[in-house]
Amino acid sequence: MFDSILIANRGEIACRVIRTAKRLGLRTIAVHSEADASARHVRLADEAVAIGPAAARESYLVADRIIEAAKRTGAKAIHPGYGFLSENAEFAEACAREGIIFVGPPPAAIRAMGSKAAAKALMEKADVPLTPGYHGDEQDPGFLKTQADAIGYPVLIKASAGGGGKGMRLVEKGEDFTDALASCRREAASAFGDEHVLVEKYITRPRHIEIQVFGDAHGNYVHLFERDCSVQRRHQKVVEEAPAPGMTPERRHRMGEAAVAAARAVGYVGAGTVEFIANQDGSFYFMEMNTRLQVEHPVTEMITGQDLVEWQLRVAAGEKLPLSQAELAIQGHAIEARIYAEDADRGFLPSIGRLAHVDAPGEGPHVRIDTGVEEGDEITPHYDPMVAKLIVWDEDRDAALARMRRALADYRVAGVTTNIPFLARLIACPAFAEADLDTGLIEREGAVLFPPAAAPPRDALLAAAIADLLAERSPDDGADPWDIRDDWRLNMTARRVLTYRAGEASFDIAVASLPAGWVLSLDGIETSMLATPLSRGRLSLSLDGRRISAGVVPIGAQRHVFLGGAIHVLERHDPLAIEFGAGTEGGRLTAPMPGKIVALLVKPGSRIEKGQPLLILEAMKMEHTIKAPNGGTVTGFNFAVGDQVAEGDALVAVETEDA
Ligand code: ADP
Ligand code: ADP
Ligand code: MG
Repeated sequence: MFDSILIANRGEIACRVIRTAKRLGLRTIAVHSEADASARHVRLADEAVAIGPAAARESYLVADRIIEAAKRTGAKAIHPGYGFLSENAEFAEACAREGIIFVGPPPAAIRAMGSKAAAKALMEKADVPLTPGYHGDEQDPGFLKTQADAIGYPVLIKASAGGGGKGMRLVEKGEDFTDALASCRREAASAFGDEHVLVEKYITRPRHIEIQVFGDAHGNYVHLFERDCSVQRRHQKVVEEAPAPGMTPERRHRMGEAAVAAARAVGYVGAGTVEFIANQDGSFYFMEMNTRLQVEHPVTEMITGQDLVEWQLRVAAGEKLPLSQAELAIQGHAIEARIYAEDADRGFLPSIGRLAHVDAPGEGPHVRIDTGVEEGDEITPHYDPMVAKLIVWDEDRDAALARMRRALADYRVAGVTTNIPFLARLIACPAFAEADLDTGLIEREGAVLFPPAAAPPRDALLAAAIADLLAERSPDDGADPWDIRDDWRLNMTARRVLTYRAGEASFDIAVASLPAGWVLSLDGIETSMLATPLSRGRLSLSLDGRRISAGVVPIGAQRHVFLGGAIHVLERHDPLAIEFGAGTEGGRLTAPMPGKIVALLVKPGSRIEKGQPLLILEAMKMEHTIKAPNGGTVTGFNFAVGDQVAEGDALVAVETEDA
């Protein structure tokens, strides 16, 4: 085995490769862009080399800089991860020229599978079943239309060089073909620099089932069973699992053989994935081969007990495959959910900002978390907004599902919007729970998966109020009740009102403090409450004797309430406090959280009064009005409308009157 490795990637996959490399005693070298100088993968690696600006095309995609970094640090091998340069044959060749081991297949195998059309032609020769279609060189629109007519609609037009779910057009009827072809070509040319397309039969209600294959340099091949990646949105995977529900040993054997035949046909070495599209009746067709480690490889690791990165490194070092086909077996069931910083209820809009609070479920034999970020880290607009992959394992699918439900409910992130609540609804929806899977599941279950925004539940409002009351009641210096700054009075109950807002709605909660606990009144209904604060904002509550657990994380005036796998963002309205969000430091107003300036409401030079709205900041999908804490004169704004600001940035300079 070589003694050192450079990881030409970032985020969770870089961290994941570093973990195995270190376990095997290798010296690990990270590369990073300017935006990633203190990223988790850099913190984990033994050494790190800066390779350029934030934009991937000026850093992670620059082969020369990465090879230069490997030479400078004496790295004997390069692991490309997925994405970036992982399927770039020229990069693999450049490594070879410099005498550096590329942890991946031979360049010829990458090339052979790089074009979906050429790969289909090759697979045809290897007797691997193909989706009916045309994948030849002739690209004349009239000719392709004739082919589509012969295949029968609906058909799918695919960019040969496509990937990541891009460059595909579904065509339902003949008259739409020509326009769809033109638009597919335009997208292919701009995204992949190659407008070659293929046309194939569009399979209705299909499943995406893929086989993990491995080859070594001695001509040995095995497959490590299948993964079901049918749960997709816009042709991108959301949840993956292994084994595939309903798979029979006989069909697994046939698909495994077909995948190994595909690998053998291109002289494959290392880890690869052969993707099939499967009909509900179990018939399956070759779709493409990904010549790298796959995002969802952990589910395979969980059911086989193997470390696929270790296999990759051993194979790259010239060793034989660690196990033979007969020595591999499936144990239990694993499910992976991709946690992204995105707002599922707003068309999966990416969310950027600082991960102000991350409280992940504990890891162990049943729960694994692969992540490239920690609390305090930033989700930037430069890269994939992935936060983590959450992987669970148990003896069977139902038990694994229960694990996933619990783990998602325990995964608490505030500061950026995540798809965790969406994933929780997805895992719980009957179609997924009953394994009624196909690639249209998310669209079909829209009513359940994207419920209309509802008022925050009563328990969430009460939990927020209790958290605020506890925050006032728990002084850092020992607990002598006479010293506590709250409204507790001997032999009497004091009443006050806490106000919370959610969107346009406002909720008043009247509080009566008792020696033990509180009585809260909301909408004319009283609830007597007891609360035990646990760590990290977690609360154990008793509401009229009913026990619930909740989490409340304050960020500025916001209260992020985690309850039963859902998150409710409330805004505390405190008439006595300084106007919301505006931290004032020496007459400057600072941003309470990262966001975008959407409006400046006064002109520089104008006189302002205390409480006057100065500007509007859009942060975490909500608009926040920053108001003047005092009267004075605005001497200048530091940002313009449309600018992105970071937490703590000085927004506006004010000359206060009483200063
Ligand atoms: P998989 O089947 O493994 O999900 P995809 O083709 O969807 O494969 O791509 C794998 C992952 O690689 C994507 O989820 C994406 O995060 C990442 N990726 C692909 N291309 C790039 C790129 N150019 N820059 C950054 N990340 C990329
Ligand atoms: P990519 O390189 O973007 O991953 P794939 O060829 O693997 O492209 O296709 C991505 C997804 O598109 C599949 O997982 C599947 O959901 C859908 N898809 C691809 N081919 C077909 C087809 N012939 N019929 C129906 N759906 C398809
Ligand atoms: Mg694919």
